[in-house]
Amino acid sequence: MTIVPSDHYGGWGLTPGRTRCAKRAARYLSSRTRQREEDLVTERLLGQPIAERTNVASRARIAARPAGTPPPSLVSVHRGVDSPFRFYLRRQAKAAEAVGITFRDIALDPGAGPTDLVERVRALDRDPSVHAVLLEHPLPAPFDFYAAVAELRPEKDVDGVGPLNLGRLVAQRPIHVPAVARAAVDIAQHYRLPLAGERVVVLGRSETVGLPLALLLGGRAEGIHATVTIAHSRTRRLDRVLADARTIFSCVGQPGLLHRGNVPEGAHIVDVGLSSVPDPDRAGGVRAVGDADATALEGWAGSLTPVPGGVGPVTVADLMAGCVRAWERAVRPEGGP
Ligand code: NAP
Repeated sequence: MTIVPSDHYGGWGLTPGRTRCAKRAARYLSSRTRQREEDLVTERLLGQPIAERTNVASRARIAARPAGTPPPSLVSVHRGVDSPFRFYLRRQAKAAEAVGITFRDIALDPGAGPTDLVERVRALDRDPSVHAVLLEHPLPAPFDFYAAVAELRPEKDVDGVGPLNLGRLVAQRPIHVPAVARAAVDIAQHYRLPLAGERVVVLGRSETVGLPLALLLGGRAEGIHATVTIAHSRTRRLDRVLADARTIFSCVGQPGLLHRGNVPEGAHIVDVGLSSVPDPDRAGGVRAVGDADATALEGWAGSLTPVPGGVGPVTVADLMAGCVRAWERAVRPEGGP
């Protein structure tokens, strides 16, 4: 059999006139492809075991506090009953209770404006009984999330989204980093996904998710040192950008963005995206999905975090671990209890 480059067959093709041979070769190649697809089992990168390990450590650190020391205290500030943040509040309250953190949420009064929010955050920053503060984001105009979060000292800005923490992350000396970015890296390290010296792609460049994640991945922390490409809504030919990526971190919020047509075979995917799609079979009529088309990528991607059940539980556990660190700094500035 002669194999020659052929435009007609789109690259390496088979010479015409040897049809029987060609058919046999095609059958052979397609059976090889089928065989490869059958061999490739897409591993599910579950978040729960990592979250549980983090929670066990947090509980132990709180339990080991000296007698008379109050437990960590976390306060979450939000816009009130209409806020989509309510879903996260329930998760935060449950997670805090599970590890022994005192949790309180503060709803702004109806009619409160940007100045009220800034004053509220300033008061929490001064309150020594509060160790960690979370602020709902994004916030609709006229609220200014960054003006408000800038009122927090970096030690209390537990989600690491204030200007001082983000600046410290650029300098590779973070106090807190955004929990979702840390969670994505935790998953990649726990499951030993290719990072060090490898090409990884981060989809999304928001200040709270994609950008800090790219900084962590491209940083000098032990075992990371990835070569990072950032893609965003203006990126052309995503398939080419992804072509030689070993690990893909998707932080977009667009169901179906990643599929067999743009993900290289065998690539690993940490799916940070979270969207709701209609599902009449579910209570509430919706279900959560990520950016990756998990069904299409089964047997193609090397591994994939499920949504839900991947990045989400690790993010909440990392947030609680951040509260414990903030509390340790406050009660024992020279080190942990
Ligand atoms: P965001 O502020 O809306 O940012 C989305 C990013 O995706 C932007 O940078 C945007 O580019 C980029 N983008 C849009 N279309 C794209 C495309 N076709 N290809 C590549 N990039 C594209 O959202 P976010 O706050 O960063 O959150 C990202 C996702 O993570 C959301 O689904 C959110 O729900 C999820 N999330 C999950 C957790 C968790 O615990 N699992 C926590 C936080 C957030 P431009 O900058 O050009 O607009």
